[in-house]
Amino acid sequence: MTLHRVSCRRHGALTPASDLVNLTEDLAEYAVCHDLFHLKIPDHGKGFRALMNAYIPDWREREERLAAWVLANIPDTDKDNG
Ligand SMILES: [Zn+2]
Repeated sequence: MTLHRVSCRRHGALTPASDLVNLTEDLAEYAVCHDLFHLKIPDHGKGFRALMNAYIPDWREREERLAAWVLANIPDTDKDNG
């Protein structure tokens, strides 16, 4: 997991850091927090979800909106599963 890009194995979505500027503030916040929390917890288990709930209570809704944004805005060749 690196900070220069936002990725999520579970959802297969990836947002290069350059795309963060195109996201709404709440989605960028979600994406950055998601990656930062993976520095501490590599999976999406109970501990990870607890961090997300503590810092971004509506993270599940944001996650869905970010996934939709990635599908609509990121070419398939730029998507990554890591
Ligand atoms: Zn993830």
